[in-house]
Amino acid sequence: MGQTPNRSTDRIYLSPPHMAAEARANLLRAFDSNWVAPVGPDLDAFEREFAESVGSQYAVAVSSGTAALHLALRLAGVGPGDFVPVSTLTFVAPANAIRYTGATPIFVDSEWESWNMDPAKLRQTLEFLRQTHRTAKAVVAVDAFGQCADYAPIRQVCEEYDVTLIEDAAESLGATYGDRNAGSLGDIGCFSFNGNKMITTSGGGMLVTDQQNWAEKARFWSTQARDPAPHYEHSETGHNYRLSNLLAAVGRGQLKALKSRVERRREIYAWYREHLGGLPGLQFIPEAAFGQSSCWLTCVLIDPELFGVTNEQVRLALEDQNIESRPCWKPMHWQPLFADCEATGGKVSEKIFERGLCLPSGSQMTPHDLQRVAQVIRSMASQTVVS
Ligand SMILES: *Cc1c(COP(=O)(O)O)cnc(C)c1O
Repeated sequence: MGQTPNRSTDRIYLSPPHMAAEARANLLRAFDSNWVAPVGPDLDAFEREFAESVGSQYAVAVSSGTAALHLALRLAGVGPGDFVPVSTLTFVAPANAIRYTGATPIFVDSEWESWNMDPAKLRQTLEFLRQTHRTAKAVVAVDAFGQCADYAPIRQVCEEYDVTLIEDAAESLGATYGDRNAGSLGDIGCFSFNGNKMITTSGGGMLVTDQQNWAEKARFWSTQARDPAPHYEHSETGHNYRLSNLLAAVGRGQLKALKSRVERRREIYAWYREHLGGLPGLQFIPEAAFGQSSCWLTCVLIDPELFGVTNEQVRLALEDQNIESRPCWKPMHWQPLFADCEATGGKVSEKIFERGLCLPSGSQMTPHDLQRVAQVIRSMASQTVVS
């Protein structure tokens, strides 16, 4: 096929799948064993190995991160008429999952230290709900771009208001908070293995918890809530949310590579900082002192006054060189879908959206790829000649 001018080099994607050789071998082995449905030895082993790697007692493998979030909310007892505080700076999945239960999201702004849920604003939100005689049974805190939220104060607020804390760790697999792993910081943790996450199984998710009854219930609901009987007997609403054994086999191979994937993404973040950190008006997503980010996506904020051009102009210049980049999450309180929902604060997430750009961060990026990205960004900055 013909190539357009300016696009003579391979496309650099934001965060493409990075498949481990062992994942492929596992997939073929599972295929040949005929355990191709959502039941089998790899599914059980993937759950065990994943729980161990996160440091949680139990893991339940499901078909997506969104499914894990939906089950987590149900476990917390969330239903019609409830209000669920959730980070506003996020991919839409947790807010959608709240709606699936019939509850209403109420959006909580970020803090600058981590770009994640501001614990003080969470407290305000729960207090506001209490004052207005509304119930909150759960909070969903999102670890955006791979960095944990500040869970010590968030936990404390959740305990005070007696709500279940759900950690959306879809982007932070492999990150830490103090000596704990992302996903184990709330009462329930949710992960995603979709194509652009830290590890992928093509599609998939995981729910982790230390509560055995919750893990068993989640597994029960994820397989259409079939009561024990020789025929099909049902007394609760279930879902078809279970992960295929084939994809669990892929997941086991991918999980073994996780450590090296995190190392590489952290190197990429450090590389960008080292090579672009000095540009005026360019600021990197901070790494909070409380832990290590998975560095899923390296994000920058671009101040057009100092940098000379806007984040959108940089995005278009990268696109022109066949390099994919993306604005940071548009806050949920700004989405048409949630126009009727309440929010606490919003200025921090709005600024991150207005100025932010996610740079290519895939764990297979080469030094040459990084140079290509940096070159474009440097050339844009140099348009402002500081006299
Ligand atoms: C990707 C993602 C999800 C959803 O994962 P799926 O597996 O695509 O359903 C949930 N929350 C956040 C923050 C995500 O980035």
